[in-house]
Amino acid sequence: MITRAERLELFKRFARERDCVVCKDWPRREKVWRRLEIDDLPKGICVRCNRAFWQGFIVWTKDEVEMDELTEAIPEDRRRGNPRPNGHELLKELRERKATRH
Ligand SMILES: [Zn+2]
Repeated sequence: MITRAERLELFKRFARERDCVVCKDWPRREKVWRRLEIDDLPKGICVRCNRAFWQGFIVWTKDEVEMDELTEAIPEDRRRGNPRPNGHELLKELRERKATRH
C-alpha cells in the first residue's frame, strides 16, 4: 500500500484514469487485457497504464538460476538471427523446454 502523500504525488505526475489519454474510452472490462498491448508512453497516461507499459518490458524470473539461463539465451537467440530477442518469449520457451525434459 502507498501513503496518501505518495498517492497525491502520483496523481500530480499521472492523469486520473478517467482523463487517461490511453484508456479513458475503453470499456471497463477490457482494460486489463488491452493494457498489455500498450507500447507507447504518451503524456497524460494514468498510473495503471504506466505500470502496464513497464511490466511489458520487465521480465520476472523465479530465481537466479532462471535469470542466468535467460541471460545466456538472449545472445544465443541473437546469434540464431533474431535481432531483437524478446525476454518474455524466451522465458516461455525456456520453461516449455524444461517442462518436456525429464
Ligand atoms: Zn490509462
